[in-house]
Amino acid sequence: MKILLIGQGVAGTLLAWTLRKRGLQVHIADGNLPGGSSLVAAGIINPVTGKRFVKSWRFDDFFPSARAAYLSLEQALNIKIWSEQSVVRLLATPEEVNDWSARCALPDYTTHLSESEDGGEWAALVRPGFHFGIIRRAARVDFPTLIFAFRQQLVSEGFFQQKSCEYGEVEKIKGEYDAMVFCEGYRGQDNPFFPNLPWQIAKGEALLIRIQDPRASSIGQMLKKTMTLVPVGGQVFWAGGSYQWHYPDLLPGESEKTFILEHLTGMLAAPFEIVGHVAGIRPTVKDRRPFIGQSPVEPKVFIFNGLGTKGALLAPYWAEHMASYLIDGKLLDKEVDIGRFYQNF
Ligand SMILES: Cc1cc2nc3c(=O)[nH]c(=O)nc-3n(C[C@H](O)[C@H](O)[C@H](O)COP(=O)(O)OP(=O)(O)OC[C@H]3O[C@@H](n4cnc5c(N)ncnc54)[C@H](O)[C@@H]3O)c2cc1C
Repeated sequence: MKILLIGQGVAGTLLAWTLRKRGLQVHIADGNLPGGSSLVAAGIINPVTGKRFVKSWRFDDFFPSARAAYLSLEQALNIKIWSEQSVVRLLATPEEVNDWSARCALPDYTTHLSESEDGGEWAALVRPGFHFGIIRRAARVDFPTLIFAFRQQLVSEGFFQQKSCEYGEVEKIKGEYDAMVFCEGYRGQDNPFFPNLPWQIAKGEALLIRIQDPRASSIGQMLKKTMTLVPVGGQVFWAGGSYQWHYPDLLPGESEKTFILEHLTGMLAAPFEIVGHVAGIRPTVKDRRPFIGQSPVEPKVFIFNGLGTKGALLAPYWAEHMASYLIDGKLLDKEVDIGRFYQNF
């Protein structure tokens, strides 16, 4: 089978790699278009999220698949992209402390959560007055290193084109491929082959900060309250992200910078400086489930998208699932099949 993937964020990368492992000839076109989200994301995998500390959807299915895939990619591409890091969770109110304790006691949470006497590696750098929880089995994937290393390999083998694919071209080029899969991130909302999908697109911004305390350079844990701080090397940390459902443009803006800074100042006692500011658009979906499946209007055209806020965790598992669907004709899981929105087509 010869397949064209349109878009090489983390979705296109994991799908291409999985299909190639299964022996398919995979071509990718990516236009390096503005607003993409993988290249600005922290790549955090966090088992327990939200204000109520609820375990992520099917985390115990997805995490082993993610770990295996990223470790294999490390070997295949000779890169370092996977690090398992615990998260120090700052707990500010008695309600949060109570909710945390209650979760820690639940059997399904004992491998992930515990209470902590102190702020772990962050103890000297956070403001006084917090209680602390620890989240285990969290991890981080370095998306940019993965995407560029994989792209380099595709370029050297002649399978990558830097180009934006226009929807009008599909009719002309579809004879050259057995299937075309759109992995366009948030741009999928305008794709006429997949009309009326319930997108709920969210712009996100993050700062890169340098903590001006030499002890910051030895921190290997993440720190989370409303914002998450992720060590990215030296005394530099990725700090974000914000959520905006209405936004004037794709660029980093002052209002989100101020919002993130306010939160960071509430978390950190140590002084810091801003060394970077990024923005991207998340391919988020109303029912928070990926968009996978066949176009209702063009049978050769497919979608692999809607990874939302959790591309790092979801991409590997659903790429395997998509591969079994395309190659072996296995049925798609109804939770992710876009057929759930096209029953009347
Ligand atoms: C601030 C922020 C923080 C985040 N943090 C995390 C995190 O910690 N952990 C996590 O798991 N997720 C995080 N996310 C979400 C994560 O970024 C997404 O889940 C994931 O990256 C989506 O990947 P994607 O490949 O679907 O889309 P994208 O990364 O947007 O990639 C789409 C690609 O398609 C290309 N493209 C689009 N249309 C065309 C076309 N017509 N022709 C050619 N090329 C095209 C674009 O150039 C782009 O390269 C974050 C997002 C943001 C914005």
